[in-house]
Amino acid sequence: MADNKSLIVIELENEDSIPRVFYEGEEINRKVRILFEWETKTDKPGKMNLEVKHYGESISDFKTIKLSKNDDSICPECGFDLDTKTWIADKKVVFEEHKCKNCGYKRHNDVSER
Ligand SMILES: [Zn+2]
Repeated sequence: MADNKSLIVIELENEDSIPRVFYEGEEINRKVRILFEWETKTDKPGKMNLEVKHYGESISDFKTIKLSKNDDSICPECGFDLDTKTWIADKKVVFEEHKCKNCGYKRHNDVSER
């Protein structure tokens, strides 16, 4: 049963059945790929990736539904947790560095001018 208020509903009756997918209450037919990933390492959702590939009315009408949400604490390159270093002056955060131990991705937030 699909709840019309849900963004996505994926139903799988058993290991051999074709999943039923409802996107914003509407059933998606002629599916060729369904990917759903959700991950957290904290008390908040960290990352969510959804991809549904399907055909429309004809074989030339190929569509992809793609949604993703990634938390700041996760590396945008590889999905590994980012280490965050914070410099504080006068009780204010002046500089933040996010670094990935896995792939070396680095991002700085210079917040001193705020
Ligand atoms: Zn990384």
